[in-house]
Parts: sequence; structure tokens; C-alpha cells
Amino acid sequence: MRRIRSSIQQKVLLLLLSLALPPLVLVGWLGLAGLQRARETARQEGIIALSRQAETALALRAQDKARFYDTALQNVQQQVEALAAYAEDRYAAPAAPLSSDVVWVAPAPNPALVAQYERQVAYAQGLIPVLRSAVAANSLVSIGYIGLEEGGIIAFNDPTVVDVLATYERFDPRERPWYRQAQAAGATIWTEAYVDANTGTLATTCATPLYDAQGVFLGVLAFDLLLATIQDDLLMVDFAQSGYAFLVGDDGGVIVRPDVLTTDVRWDEPFQAENLRDSPSAELRAIAEAMIDRGQGVQRLEINAQSSYMAYAPITTAGWSVALVIPAAEIVAPAEATGLRIAAAQDQLRNQLIALLLVMAAAIGILGLLLSLSFSRRIQTVRSGVQAAAGGDLARRLPPAGLDEIGELADAFNGMAATLQEKVAELEQNAQQLVTLNNVSNELKGMLDLQVLLQRIPAVICERFGFDRAALYLVSGPQLRVVGAAFGPDSAAQARYFMEVANSAPLRIDGSSIEADVVRSGKAIIVDDPWNHPGVLQPKQAASASHAYVQVPIFGREERVIGLLSADYNRTQRPIQAQDAAQLFMFASMVGLTIENARLYSDLERQVAVRTEELRAALAQAQLADQRKSDFLASVSHELRTPLNAIIGFSTVLLDDLDGPLAPAQREDVQSINRNGRFLLHLINDLLDLAKIEAGHLNLEPRKVDLCPLTAEVVDTVQALLRNQRMSLHNALPSNLPLVCADGDRVRQILLNLLANAVKFTNQGTITISGVTLDEIDTHGKIGRCVAISVADTGIGIASERHKSIFEEFVQVHERRPQVRGTGLGLSIVRKLVEAHHGRIWLESAPGQGSTFTFTLPVAVPEHVTSTACNGRAPGAHP
Ligand code: ADP
Repeated sequence: MRRIRSSIQQKVLLLLLSLALPPLVLVGWLGLAGLQRARETARQEGIIALSRQAETALALRAQDKARFYDTALQNVQQQVEALAAYAEDRYAAPAAPLSSDVVWVAPAPNPALVAQYERQVAYAQGLIPVLRSAVAANSLVSIGYIGLEEGGIIAFNDPTVVDVLATYERFDPRERPWYRQAQAAGATIWTEAYVDANTGTLATTCATPLYDAQGVFLGVLAFDLLLATIQDDLLMVDFAQSGYAFLVGDDGGVIVRPDVLTTDVRWDEPFQAENLRDSPSAELRAIAEAMIDRGQGVQRLEINAQSSYMAYAPITTAGWSVALVIPAAEIVAPAEATGLRIAAAQDQLRNQLIALLLVMAAAIGILGLLLSLSFSRRIQTVRSGVQAAAGGDLARRLPPAGLDEIGELADAFNGMAATLQEKVAELEQNAQQLVTLNNVSNELKGMLDLQVLLQRIPAVICERFGFDRAALYLVSGPQLRVVGAAFGPDSAAQARYFMEVANSAPLRIDGSSIEADVVRSGKAIIVDDPWNHPGVLQPKQAASASHAYVQVPIFGREERVIGLLSADYNRTQRPIQAQDAAQLFMFASMVGLTIENARLYSDLERQVAVRTEELRAALAQAQLADQRKSDFLASVSHELRTPLNAIIGFSTVLLDDLDGPLAPAQREDVQSINRNGRFLLHLINDLLDLAKIEAGHLNLEPRKVDLCPLTAEVVDTVQALLRNQRMSLHNALPSNLPLVCADGDRVRQILLNLLANAVKFTNQGTITISGVTLDEIDTHGKIGRCVAISVADTGIGIASERHKSIFEEFVQVHERRPQVRGTGLGLSIVRKLVEAHHGRIWLESAPGQGSTFTFTLPVAVPEHVTSTACNGRAPGAHP
């Protein structure tokens, strides 16, 4: 089955279609509105057309009715007149005998009256048969009769009518309206509606007077038309349900109308019909006038609160008019029905449209849902794949995700993951190689014995890089010699044999062998077919029997090739690949330096051994000389001090005049002897101290020392020296300083030395002693409390570049001055004494700005304050 490819663009198009739904709804709505307007227009136009058509038809109908009625009335009138002519003729004929037919004689028939008017009765009886046949021939005529002037006789086509008349008290035809009106008119007349004496219903009569040959009035012949019959036969309206027709007389009175067919008026009472001229409707009154004027037309008007059409036309014969009435609603009914049908169709259309829209909306919704579901599911799959890849799972592949862009994305992802996996594998392999190289490098670096290293290198190539056999060549002068070979386990003999064969005719670097080529070019070479290669020495090839091998150069310092490595897969017989060569190449470049280092190291070791021996001998000599010097110094100093003390003592006795007064010149000489003796003693003491310190004989006696009284004592001593000088000594040591752990005599010596220097190198100003407590970190990182004592002067100062050397022996910074004597040993001893107390000394000074020497002493541990011996760190443990 072929799958249809649908792109996201197409899907977006589909989505857009769904956006087109609202305009569709709008168009549908506009269509419906248009249909609604069309329906209204159709209805209106239909009504107008139907009204016009109805008006025309109605007018024609009215005229037809008038004509038809005229003809019918004319028929009746012609019959009446023909019969009258016949009756007049018969009157002139000889009198006929009486018959049995019943006639009326006014006021009521009786034999005497019949006998009296025998001739007239017989005449009337003789006309009955013609009356009967005439009435029978015309369905409109209900009754035909003839009334005679003489005797008030009346004969009917139907003699039973006489029986009806007999029920009345009295009846005289000569008093009836039809008789009077015809007699008065002297011509045929049509009466107004009146109550028929025979039927008691409304009727109209066509009556014509009879005359004899001399023109004497004989009587009246008349035919009755019952209004109900007229209504049924003539005025029947068959084209409208609630339409009707009626007759209007020549004076506007209604003759026949469906609602005035019966009456309660008796036959001998006058009947007064409704007259249209008296109508409250002006329109109706106007129509009545038009009818009286014999006019015809059609008009719309309100009749009984109903909009109706009325058409009218004149009837010539009777001077009446016919009127037709049809309710307007009935005329426009078809148009209304059409409108309703359109509305129904429109409703149906709207419902269908709405249903269609709903179905479309639902379909688009479902389609959209399915689409988005399919998208999101597939995107989810792609995302999980990407997340898996990001989490390191590169083996994960996505299932086929369709033929659209997402599918392409999934395929691209799979491709990318595969490439990544390959690259990562490659990287891992490289990293592994690097790790191997690093490990190998570390292993080899530790081998300082060159011979061991050279044997180990080919073995490492087999063990760590997977080769089966390897050989190491090194450049030796113009030759290339095999210095190590590994042919795999249990193949040491073969390796040795190979080395022997190879070195029996060493390769020359300037030769044409492959090896020489590698050394000269510095490039790796893979030999695929060594048996047939012109650059392969065949004896060596026969010894190795290699199927293929790779050779890479070994670089030493300054990119110099110092040898080469050769390796093959003799056991597996697999071909040599480029990456095998690359791997070996990397190893070779690392190995070069290792070999050179090992070579250097073995040289160095030799040299160091010689030098060490020389130094050891020199050191022994020096130590001996030093010991001798110290011993000499100690003994000489001791020997010198005894006579010196005697010189100083006796000269002091002389100066104190204890042996008698001295002459001034003598006093001056003795003073010189005393001063120089003291200086010499000072010098010897210093030297002795130094000698002691250097000989390790400085024994401190650490105690808890209160610095305040000690310093005050020293200050007093020095103060005596300052008499007559332009400087003052100021003791600013705080009284609350903690006790220090020190040898009090040595601290005194330190202070005296520093103060003596300050006095020596200050011309005027102040010398100040101050102290603070500090926390100091020792060389082991431990924090210890100590007291720092400073001796500051306002003297000549010292340049910063001399600050360090000043503490060395025999260093004097300033020009010698006659009044200032010094040995250059004072500060050196001070430093050594301070350091023997685990303290330190430093200097802050600049030329012309004075000098401040500060030294520290450790604070004694508090819990032993009361005892005199120090605990913890005991100063003087070493010099
Ligand atoms: P010296 O016996 O010469 O004083 P020192 O070791 O005590 O030997 O001093 C070394 C030198 O350091 C002095 O010669 C002097 O030049 C310099 N010196 C020491 N103390 C001071 C000081 N307070 N002011 C200036 N220079 C000083």
C-alpha cells in the first residue's frame, strides 16, 4: 500500500481551512438574510400582482354577472310581455265557458261573485294552462299569475296558491304593489323586493299591464322571482370562499344579498331593504352613487372591519346593479402561502446550513485533534531520543516517524546519532590510547637504567598496543643498530637471533634501506610486501619472516631522529592499517625523550657520584678546620681575657688614684690603656660568643622573664652613657606585658647591643623602647603569642638594600668614623640569640629617617606563671 505523503505545509493549510469556517458562516448568514429579503419581496410583489389580477378579474366577473342577470331578467320580461300580448288577444275572443280551475275573486271567492264575474273568471281560467307552461319553462320563475281589474280576479299557474290566499282574511290583487306599479307605469316594471304573499319569503316581480283593443286597462300579468332562487342561480360566487354577490336597486337599496333572503315582515306589510346610500362608510356611499349612475368599477374598502374588494356593474333590464365582494385576505392568500412556503424552505435551508457547519466544525476539530496528537506523539518520540542522546545513550535509534518533516528530522537524528556514536567510539579509542600512552610513559619514565629501558620498549609495544612483534633501532654514529626486540612470549631466542642477524651487517644511515629512509625522512613507512621490496635487506627479512610491518621514526630533542621502531602482526597475519602506524608514531615520539632522558641520567649519575665523593672529602676537611678554628678561638679568647682583665683592672686602680695621684700626661695614657682594653675585651667577648654559637655551645637557660624590670635595668645602664649628649632615652614599654620565656641574661645582651648601636648612630634626638603582644604563625602553621620589642632611634638610618646583609658577620654599613668603633659582629650575634629563642628580628629604616629594630620573644604559657621554669617550647634547644 502506498502511503500518502503529507507535509506540515499541507497540514497547516488544513488548519487554515478551519480558520476559513467563520467566513463560511458569515456567507451562510448573508445567504439566509438575502433569502429572507427575497421572500419578503416575492410576497409583496405576489400580493400586488394578485391584487391587480383580482381587481381585473373581479370587475370582469361583475360585468359577466350583470350581463348574465340582464339576459335572465330579459327572458322573464319577454315571456311576461309575450304572455300579456296573448292574454290581450284572448280577451277579444268570444267568452269561454267556466272550467273547474280555481281562481281568486276579491275579496274572497264565492259562487255569487263567480256568477257576477262569470265572463272574467272564465277568461282567467282560460289563461292558467299558458301560465303553467311558461312557468315550467323558466326555472327562475316561481310563480306566474294574472290579475284582472274587473272583480279583482287573480289566476295562478298553480291553482293551489288560491288555497293559501284563502287562509288570509282578505286579498285583493288590485291593491298589491306589483299591480299598482304596473298599472301606474303603463309598461312592464320590476318591483323592489317585497314579501311574497304565497311563500312568505322575499321576492321580486316582473309585471306588465294588459289593455283591450280600445286601450282600456284590463289588468296585470306578472311573474314572481324568489330572491333566494336569484341568489342561488344567478349570484352564486364560485371563485372565492367567503366572497358573495348582491343586487342593488336603482335607488341604492339592497335587493338581494345572502344575509337578507328571509324577513319577519308579513306579506301585507311594506318591506324596507337596507339602502347603501345610508351606509356609514363614505366609500360605500360613493359606490352607491356610482351604481345609481349606472357606473361600473372595482374598489378596495373596509366592509365589516375587513379589507375587501367590491366590483359592480349595471343590469340594464331592471335598472339594478350587481356587486361582488371578496375579502382581500383571500386574494393575497396565494402570495402569503408562497411566502410561507419560501419561509419554510428557508428555515429548512438554514437548519441544513447550521447542521453542515456543525458537522464541518466537529470534523475540523477532530481532524485537528488527531493531527496534533500525531504531531505531539512523534515529536515526543524525537524528543525522548534527543534526551537519551544528551544523556549519553548514543546507541538509541528512533523508529520511522512518517514521511513528513518530522520523519525527516527523526532520520536526520538517527544519522547524527550514528555519526556521533562513531566519533565518540573513535574519541574513546583515542582517549584509551592516550591513557595507555600515559601509563606506558609513566612506567618507562621510572626506568633510569638505559639497558632495561631499551629491552622494555619493544615488549611494551606488544603488551600495550596489540602488536605481535617489535624491534627498537637506535642511531649509533653512521649506523643503525637493533638495541631491543620482543617476539612475544617464549620467543626470546628468536628475538636474539634476529638481533644478531640484523647487527651482523649494521644498516647505514646513508644507505638505501627502508630503515635509513625512515631515519632520513622522519616519516612512518608501512611495508606491505617485504619479500619483494628492494629496500628490505633479505637476510634480516629471512630472520624475521615478517609478512608486513610498519616502521616509525623516534625523535629526540630538537626534532632529531635518534632511531626507529618496527612492529608487525606476525601471529594474526593481519594487514597493517594507517591507525596502527599513527598509534606507533605517537608512542615513538614519546619514547624518544624517555630514551634521551635515560641516557642523560646515566651520564649524570656517573658525574654526581664522582662529585659527591669530592665534596664529601672537602666537607670533612672544612669541618675539621672549622672545629680547629672554634677551638682555637675559644682557647685564645680565654687566654686573652685573663691578661686583659688584669690590664683593665690595674688601669682602673691607677685612674682611681688608689696608687697615688697621676700626672696629667700619665692619666691620659692610662685612660687610653683602659679604653682600648675594654674595647678589646668587648671584641673578644663577641668573638667568643660567636664561636660558641657556631660551635653549638650556646646553652640558654629559659625562664619566665618579666621584661619590665629587665628593660628598666638596661635603660639605667645606658642612661649613664648618655650624659652630656644631645639625645634622650625613653622607656615606653607597657607595664602589662605578659611574661616571656627566655634566658634573661641573653635578652639583656640583645637589648644592650641594640641600644648601643642606637646611641652610636644617633647624633641627637630620642631613642625609644616599646613593646606589644602579637599572634604569630610559626613555620609549622601554628599560631603562637609573642612579645615584640622595638628599639627606635632618630639616627642616620640604613638604606633598604642593606637591611638583609646587616645581620651577617663583620658587615658594617657606614663609613668608619673616629669616634665610633665597631666590630660588625653585634647584630649577627643578636640575630642568632633571637632565633635561638624561636623569635625573629627585623629592621625598618631609611637613610636620615632613623632606624627601628624589632625582635620577638615567645610568651610563657599562662598556667605556669608562678613557677620560674618555662614549659612547652623551650628556647635554646638549638643554636
Ligand atoms: P658594629 O660593631 O659595627 O656596630 P653591628 O653588627 O652592631 O656592628 O652593626 C653593623 C653595622 O650596622 C654598623 O656598623 C652600622 O653601620 C649599622 N648599624 C647598626 N645599628 C645601627 C643603627 N641603630 N643606626 C644606623 N646604623 C646602624
